[in-house]
Amino acid sequence: TTPPITVQEGASVELIDVVKDYSGQRALNGVNLSMARGEFVALLGPSGCGKTTALRALSGLEQVTSGSIRINGVDVVGTPVNKRDIGMVFQSYSLFPHMTVTQNVEFGLEMRRVDAASRRRRSAEALDLVGLGQLGGRYAHQLSGGQQQRVALARALVTRPRVLLLDEPLSALDAKVRVQLREEIRKIQTELGITTLFVTHDQEEALAVADRVAVMRAGDIEQIGTPEELYRAPATDFVAEFVGISNRIDGVVSGGSVTVLGHRLPLVRPDVADGPVRVFLRPEDVSLAPAGIPATVVATSFLGSLRRTFVRLDDGAVISVQHAARETTSPGQDVFLALSGSPVTVTTARG
Ligand code: ATP
Repeated sequence: TTPPITVQEGASVELIDVVKDYSGQRALNGVNLSMARGEFVALLGPSGCGKTTALRALSGLEQVTSGSIRINGVDVVGTPVNKRDIGMVFQSYSLFPHMTVTQNVEFGLEMRRVDAASRRRRSAEALDLVGLGQLGGRYAHQLSGGQQQRVALARALVTRPRVLLLDEPLSALDAKVRVQLREEIRKIQTELGITTLFVTHDQEEALAVADRVAVMRAGDIEQIGTPEELYRAPATDFVAEFVGISNRIDGVVSGGSVTVLGHRLPLVRPDVADGPVRVFLRPEDVSLAPAGIPATVVATSFLGSLRRTFVRLDDGAVISVQHAARETTSPGQDVFLALSGSPVTVTTARG
């Protein structure tokens, strides 16, 4: 008999120089990505950058134009979808409406000619895993969106795949359910140790769930790193602006530090050549102060435990400042700013 669903092993995954052309248009421009066994990687990028294409190439739903894809070191480019040992969840719930929850989850096992008793046992186990043990007899239309995605997850996991692919699985859900379900997906993924690729255009979601995030832009991976690395040391302007809210202002590097708004600050990467640069300051690295850099409040938003205030500097640049909610500000007010001593990121020197 099959061991419990929690006893399985994730596979390593490699995309090597993967190119995908759609009738002359290049969707993937030589993508390289290595995932360790059990790793959770988020593929993050704006609409049309090739995230879904990369995921579909890995699954086998899309044939690659060139390059290789390896699962546990074995090239799977010629292997059909159903032989790649991959589970998938998509944005739309894609449950069979005329089947019960249990029948939906058992479907993949039936295709694999698993006997009825084992199907029953394994689907019950998968539904327990996603917290829906009691709802096996319901139909899809009797479930909330979040519950339907849980069923889709159970259906993807019940065949004990070695890789799980999630394509914007939370996009259709409301904000609160999104956050709950992403935490649950992460918990289940950790418990199962299943290698997971999660496609999203939501940077907060990517940073919150993934071990590493691959930022895609126009068919290429621009940077891969842990959430902290991407947030603190983005390699390019694109990554700095796509990941987290950034204040982009001019600075000048000299002698291993950068001067910005009349203050000298340390650099994340001290090996930057002297000269004019773009400096990225996170909102939490700027604060309101009794004296310092003069600015005028443009707008302010209350975020519960904190407030974010947009201010205009003397040179016209608008930046955002994060501060305690009890420090109130109002549009038109003159304030002063202080910069924290945290290292800052600078990117490409201006021409
Ligand atoms: P989104 O977040 O909007 O889904 P994405 O990052 O997943 O975007 P893809 O769906 O992978 O992007 O699309 C990448 C590029 O390939 C786009 O320019 C898209 O128009 C193109 N493309 C995708 N699928 C096809 C197809 N079947 N035929 C032709 N072009 C396609």
